[in-house]
Amino acid sequence: MALDVEREQEEKKRKKKKRRKKRERGEKSSVPFSPMMIEDDSALRTGGRGLSDQWADSVGMRPRTTERHITVHKRLVLGFAVSILALLIVTMIAVLLSLRFEECGASAAAAASAAEADRNPGGAPARTNSSVAGTSHRPGEEIGRPAASGGLVPGSPEPKEPLEEEEQGRWQPWTQLRLPGHLKPLHYNLMLTVFMENFTFSGEVNVEVACLNTTRYIVLHASRVAVEKVQVAEDRAFGAVQVARYFLYPQNQVFVVVLNQTLEAQRNYNLKIIYNALIENELLGFFRSSYVLHGERRFLGVTQFSPTHARKAFPCFDEPIYKATFKISIKHQATYLSLSNMPVETSVFEEDGWVTDHFSQTPLMSTYYLAWAVCNFTFREMVTKSGVIVRLYARPDAVRRGSGDYALHITKRLIEFYEDYFKVPYSLPKLDLLAVPKHPYAAMENWGLSVFVEQKILLDPSISSISYLLDVTMVIVHEICHQWFGDLVTPVWWEDVWLKEGFAHYFEFVGTDYLYPGWNMEKQRFLTDVLHEVMLLDGLASSHPVSQEVIEVTDIDRVFDWIAYKKGAALIRMLANFMGHSVFQRGLQDYLTIHKYGNAARSDLWNTLSEALRKNGKYVNIQEVMDQWTLQMGYPVITILGNGTVDNMIVITQQHFIYDSRARLRTTEFGNSSYLWQIPLTIVLGNRSHISSETIIWVSNKSEHHRITLNKESWLLGNINQTGYFRVNYDLRNWRLLIDQLMQNHEVLSVSNRAGLIDDAFSLARAGYLPQNIPLEIIKYLSEEKDFLPWHAASRALYPLDKLLDRMENYNVFNEYILKQVATMYIKLGWPTINFNGSLVQASYQHEELRREVIMLACSFGNKHCHQQASTFISDWISSNKNRLLNLSLNSEVVLDQDAIDVIIHVARNPHGRDLAWKFFRDKWKILNTRYGEALFMNSKLISGVTEFLNTEGELNELKNFIKNYDGVAAASFSRAVETVEANVRWQKYYKEELFHWLRKALRH
Ligand SMILES: [Zn+2]
Repeated sequence: MALDVEREQEEKKRKKKKRRKKRERGEKSSVPFSPMMIEDDSALRTGGRGLSDQWADSVGMRPRTTERHITVHKRLVLGFAVSILALLIVTMIAVLLSLRFEECGASAAAAASAAEADRNPGGAPARTNSSVAGTSHRPGEEIGRPAASGGLVPGSPEPKEPLEEEEQGRWQPWTQLRLPGHLKPLHYNLMLTVFMENFTFSGEVNVEVACLNTTRYIVLHASRVAVEKVQVAEDRAFGAVQVARYFLYPQNQVFVVVLNQTLEAQRNYNLKIIYNALIENELLGFFRSSYVLHGERRFLGVTQFSPTHARKAFPCFDEPIYKATFKISIKHQATYLSLSNMPVETSVFEEDGWVTDHFSQTPLMSTYYLAWAVCNFTFREMVTKSGVIVRLYARPDAVRRGSGDYALHITKRLIEFYEDYFKVPYSLPKLDLLAVPKHPYAAMENWGLSVFVEQKILLDPSISSISYLLDVTMVIVHEICHQWFGDLVTPVWWEDVWLKEGFAHYFEFVGTDYLYPGWNMEKQRFLTDVLHEVMLLDGLASSHPVSQEVIEVTDIDRVFDWIAYKKGAALIRMLANFMGHSVFQRGLQDYLTIHKYGNAARSDLWNTLSEALRKNGKYVNIQEVMDQWTLQMGYPVITILGNGTVDNMIVITQQHFIYDSRARLRTTEFGNSSYLWQIPLTIVLGNRSHISSETIIWVSNKSEHHRITLNKESWLLGNINQTGYFRVNYDLRNWRLLIDQLMQNHEVLSVSNRAGLIDDAFSLARAGYLPQNIPLEIIKYLSEEKDFLPWHAASRALYPLDKLLDRMENYNVFNEYILKQVATMYIKLGWPTINFNGSLVQASYQHEELRREVIMLACSFGNKHCHQQASTFISDWISSNKNRLLNLSLNSEVVLDQDAIDVIIHVARNPHGRDLAWKFFRDKWKILNTRYGEALFMNSKLISGVTEFLNTEGELNELKNFIKNYDGVAAASFSRAVETVEANVRWQKYYKEELFHWLRKALRH
């Protein structure tokens, strides 16, 4: 306690000092318009498109309602306006967060006491009572309670010193991290009564369990539920099995029933538990949220069970391997409607204005994608060719406006696409899409009842920009894919969460190509949005394998990260390419058919795919190949040396690619240099006019010699279209020939090859594998580049470099060089023209994206014309949208949980906001961590967002000192942050001068 006060006082002193400093600095940097502010918006939106699930990683601040969907160009303008506003807002959040945080605590307490009050006789829930007052607890209390009473919360009918005999060295199955496996659930009957007026619910769950091994203990998951009654009976004889006592063991979120007699193997039993709980206000388990309709606040209750929150809504065997059937009934006031995975079978109306919906029984499924909702939404529906009823449920005004029609329409088409692609029909009679105002992630793939946050599913195609539409589309494609990958066939355990997430992420691109065949998502956009992005992360020594060991419950949250999603998708894409797409597809069909309604591990997939290859007369041991890619972290860099070797021999070597040269040395000491991969290296040879067909070389040794006829003028290119998850380096002669080729006629190389070369070159230089000037020479050809993708790859590589240099004295040399490369295209493309009615003329997708990218670069690096144009746009736009903008800043709903994170990151990307955001982060870390700690991606996104551009020794020390104070919290994210900043500092030390030296020379010509 004393320590906290001391720290607070220190903090205050530090703040004062900083404020003084800030004032001094503020005088110099109070430029009303800065190029960087524009750039922010680009960085925001470019970062967001790839990933689409919970990660909700769209870093962009999305407008919250469809009216606010604005076109790309308007958003450019918004970007600027928001930059200014964000600085204001971030201060507001500081206040809001702390206020709202306190409110949360207060309202939770209020709700709890309301729940308590409700238990009075005559109160609504008939089953509840307060008779166990002495030993009972309020739902939500046991979490975090110190282990004073042995950490146990007794709820036993016969109170007794908890566990005296068990504690004397007997077997305690509840202390294990996984369920003991003696019992297997077969079927759940779950009856819920939902009280929306005080946000509580009561439940009765009857679980039929098969006893596999004799035991005296029933151990299953439960958290934050108040158990009132437990009964156990043998199924066949209906004989009661006497319960000695029961208790919650919060450390492992389990509920334990101790029996007076043993349950016998090979027999089935029935476990009945009656309980109460809160409909929480925290976006996990069974939670509530609200919206305003005609000036009136309306509430809804909805679930988010993945990965480990079903236990907060009902006691259950909450591990994916325990598949069972579920029959759910929900009793609620008739003014609401209820939804679940299956359709309603019967509804029983009672006179008192209540109704009970009985849902059909589900097929075998895991608990994490079970779902229900109680709301007063309306819907529209469509039916697929195969008869699946697809409905979109949303708030009534949105449905009336038709904001969900686009989602509904593509969902119908996507079900048909997947049914055809997988040759496995959709397994349920219906699929509901539920658009909720608040959700911890972009969406959740509950089987038959997928839940989306509104801004990831609702849109008005007539006013939404193409990139917004694309974003929504990919989220939907992802979730529908999960109905097969994840729901029908489920990973055995969380270590292979990448199996379902990698597939769903990969199929975002395949499925979008089906809907929009001209967009080439899988061949092109995948590179910048997935591959380049994750290789940046996976090039750190603090990365981890895509299959991760999961031991503690907290590990489960950790595995839902970009490595699982993006690396998973990139590995699957590599696999599909080296197998051949049609063989790969047949393999997936077999895999889903064999394992439907069950669980599968990665080895099951590898075996099925090897078999599919074998049927095609090819023999590759997929497991052997893929284990190296999934069980080792990182990826290799291949170096091809062709120069001056005799007999047309080239030398190919592989090495673990790591950005930080010092970490590279360290890992060599620790043996990572022994990392080897079996690499499907595709290569072509080419010269000015001709390019050879593609050949594949499997590289599996540290160093190999291969015979290739390479004449004087021909170059060699590896990893064609970047289908492989690795980088390729060449001797300088080959780099020169490639640069020459790009300058003479870049179209000899495909669009993806051009983008791949750019990304490889910048990354290799950043890591010190390549001279600093090579990437800058490569982008010289861009003045002739008419395709979006290479520009996108270049700008993604330039912005981080820009951040590394922007406080250097020679910064303008870099600026000048980039502007020189951008100028031609900037003049050629120009600015979008405005229609007489004020809307922007919608160009084609490619063209629009390209123009946006070039304008962003020009403005970011200080093109004066660009600044003038932007100012005109902004003032025009602000005068026509003044009210909306003000509303955006004053309406507290805009600072919802996900958005708060985005605003902070947004501010951090602005050079003038960086210090502020970094300081805000440190000051408010305690609150932020409490709020987002459990919400998977939020924390790591925030941590990398505010730290990735720190680049001085001083900032590095600040970061390290800060982490010291929070020992062990978010350790993985922080060690990544430290490594990134260390690499930034080191890059400056070793390579900055080399870069400036070359730039000065280049500009003299
Ligand atoms: Zn997913």
